[in-house]
Amino acid sequence: MTNPSLLILAGDGIGPEVMAQVARVIDWYGDKRGLKFDVSEDLVGGAAYDAHGTPLHDDTMARAQEVDAVLLGAVGGPKYDALDFSVKPERGLLRLRKEMDLFSNLRPAQCFDALADFSSLKRDVVAGLDIMIVRELTSGVYFGEPRGIFKEGNERVGINTQRYTESEIDRVARSAFELARRRSNKVCSMEKANVMESGILWRDVVTEVHAKDYSDVELSHMYADAGAMQLCRWPKQFDVILTDNLFGDILSDTAAMLTGSLGMLPSASLGAPMANGRPKALYEPVHGSAPDITGKELANPIACILSFAMALRYSFDQGDEASRLESAIESVLAQGVRTADLMQADTDAKPASTTEMGDAILAALDASL
Ligand code: NAD
Repeated sequence: MTNPSLLILAGDGIGPEVMAQVARVIDWYGDKRGLKFDVSEDLVGGAAYDAHGTPLHDDTMARAQEVDAVLLGAVGGPKYDALDFSVKPERGLLRLRKEMDLFSNLRPAQCFDALADFSSLKRDVVAGLDIMIVRELTSGVYFGEPRGIFKEGNERVGINTQRYTESEIDRVARSAFELARRRSNKVCSMEKANVMESGILWRDVVTEVHAKDYSDVELSHMYADAGAMQLCRWPKQFDVILTDNLFGDILSDTAAMLTGSLGMLPSASLGAPMANGRPKALYEPVHGSAPDITGKELANPIACILSFAMALRYSFDQGDEASRLESAIESVLAQGVRTADLMQADTDAKPASTTEMGDAILAALDASL
């Protein structure tokens, strides 16, 4: 049997620094758990622009379509700010998402107990929080036509169009229900069916998909504005939240802030199943290339390592090994190991470097055996 394949695109800024720690974790799984991957590496973003004059070479795009999962670090940086829009580093990432048709964006909001005091909300509201936002990523108001700024009489009018087809809603709803079955079996779908026709269709299709194929999953509906309030009031009432592109953008950032640092947040973007049954998949931390701390060993590698844990769970059916990795991270945090972003400003304690955080996580993985 061939090993599952992984394409690593470390990218720019702190991308290669955090990805170096992920590479150590991948090696650990090969050595200690017999879980071997065929790993290849390539360029994306500014690094690809420097080498090829494009933020994503066609050969890299083709490889991304073939592998079982792509792991991405981060793209961008001040060096590339003046580039033409068409070759900016971010275009490389957008091309990957678009051509792989990654319509289902999974953003977990998980609050490790040791970090509960980092949230802007009270400890008892967030401690132990573990929810997942499923955001539709390839349609909706960011893509709908007509769009543009037009002249209307004596003034300009800006137009964007919220547009969803039944099949677009159907496929992302299925991905949320499938996910819920691996978690607490509960989906809350959020839209604005009270004021938007696309919201009415969204609610109808989600209800139909549920009745037809997922009636074992508990389904509720909520208006997205009420959902935002509930996320801040008592987020633990949710398990999986299913929502569209625009509301998902806002709700996932809101949920992210419940958990503290940007250096802790992973994500997955999934597409349709490939011939081997695995979904097309790209895993990446939510954070960017953090030029302010690049090259200083200050980056927190946990978001990127948790993204690999998501790959273990959602691409490679290794839920137990993903839990092992998450527990290792939890125990490291409980021991008090902290990169600078996880430390209160008024402390004199010395932060762990990026590599020291990697060391601690590997030691905790060893201890888990
Ligand atoms: P950023 O996420 O790079 O940084 C925001 C702040 O969070 C910075 O102070 C940074 O030091 C800190 N931070 C981020 N990740 C961290 C980590 N792992 N450990 C410790 N601290 C961390 O966002 P930004 O500053 O707005 O953008 C910088 C560049 O990254 C820009 O070029 C932007 O376009 C790009 N960007 C890329 C992505 C991506 O690749 N997906 C996402 C967002 C921004």
